Amino acid sequence: MKKHNFNAGPSILPQIAIENTAKAILDLNGIGMSILEISHRSKDFQAIIEEAIALFKELLNIPEGYQVLFLGGGASLQFHMVPSNMMNKKVAYLETGVWAKKAIKEAKFFGETVVVASSADKNFNFIPKGYSVPEDADYFHITTNNTIYGTEIRTDYDCKVPLVADMSSDILSRPMDVSKYALIYGGAQKNLGPAGVTFVIVREDMLGKVDRPLPTMLDYRTHIKEGSMFNTPPCLPIFTVKETLKWIKSLGGVAAIEKMNIEKANLLYNAIDSSKMFVGTAEKDSRSLMNICFVMKDQYKDKEDAFMEFAKNRGMVGIKGHRSVGGFRASTYNALPKESVHALVECMSDFEKENA
Ligand SMILES: *Cc1c(COP(=O)(O)O)cnc(C)c1O
Repeated sequence: MKKHNFNAGPSILPQIAIENTAKAILDLNGIGMSILEISHRSKDFQAIIEEAIALFKELLNIPEGYQVLFLGGGASLQFHMVPSNMMNKKVAYLETGVWAKKAIKEAKFFGETVVVASSADKNFNFIPKGYSVPEDADYFHITTNNTIYGTEIRTDYDCKVPLVADMSSDILSRPMDVSKYALIYGGAQKNLGPAGVTFVIVREDMLGKVDRPLPTMLDYRTHIKEGSMFNTPPCLPIFTVKETLKWIKSLGGVAAIEKMNIEKANLLYNAIDSSKMFVGTAEKDSRSLMNICFVMKDQYKDKEDAFMEFAKNRGMVGIKGHRSVGGFRASTYNALPKESVHALVECMSDFEKENA
C-alpha cells in the first residue's frame, strides 16, 4: 500500500532525490565508484558541494557577503556556536517552544540572555507580538517554524539588531529576504535532506567580533576558510541536499513551492476548521504551513486512538502529535504531495461520518 509520509523529521524527501542518491551510491556519474567511497577532496565531490552551495544561493537569492556552510552536529550544535561566535555581552531570544528553549539554555553559558517574550503560558500555541528587543543586544534569535507546536513566523522581521533564525523546519518553503538576517541555520532532516548535515548561512561581517578564544572546529571562520572542508563533511547527505535543491529548481523555485505549500495547508486547515470532531491547536494567525497540529474536541477525546488506527490502515504515517501537544500532527513539508493531504482529509471525513 502507498504510504502517506507525514513524519516530522527525518521526513519525506522528493522521490527523484532518493532515486538519484541510490544511483550515486551504486555508481557516481559512471566513475565506477560509489559516492560513499570517494575522497571528499576529489574533483567529483568538489563539484557536488559547489553545486549544492550555488543552488542554495540561487534559490534563496542570497546576497553578496554571505557564506553558505554545510556542517555536522545538527541544529543543536548551532544553539552553542551562534552565541559563542557572536555574543559579547547580551543577546535576545524569542521563546516559542522547546527548540527555542534549548537555544536559550546554550546562550546563557555565554552571558546575559534576555527572553523578550514567550508563548509558554499557552503551551506555545502562538507567536508572541508587541515586545521590544533591547537595542544593545548583539543579536535577536527567533525560531521561524516551531515543529512541535505548528506555529510559524512567515515574514522576515525588520529588526534593529542582527537577526538570527533557526529555520530547521521551514527553510526553502517560501521566498525570503536573506538580507534581513545575520545568520540562518538548521538541520537538513526536516525539509531539505537526510539527517547528518546542518546548513548555516552567515553574513561574514558578523564574525570576528568576540574576545573569547574559539575552538578551531567551533569557529565559523574555520569552515568559511576551508569551504566546509576543514574536516570531512557529511558527503552523502550533502549529495541528497543537492538533489533536493535541483528538484526545487525544476519546479520553479521557492515561489512555486510556497504556492503548493499554501494549497496543501489550506486544504487540511479547512478540513479541520469545518470538522465536528477535530480542532486545530495553534492560533489561526500563527499557523504553520509545515506542521499542522490538531486534536479531537473534548467530547470525542476518547476516539483519538481509534482514529490513529483508522488512519494507519489507510496508509497514513507519522501523524501522531508530539507528546507535549498530544493529538495529531501532519507535517506537510515541501516534498509531501498534495494527494497525501487529500488522502488524510478524506480519512478524517470518513472517520467522522462513522463516529460523530
Ligand atoms: C528538529 C529541530 C531542531 C533540532 O535539530 P537537530 O539537527 O536534531 O539538532 C532544532 N530546531 C528546530 C526548529 C527543529 O525542528
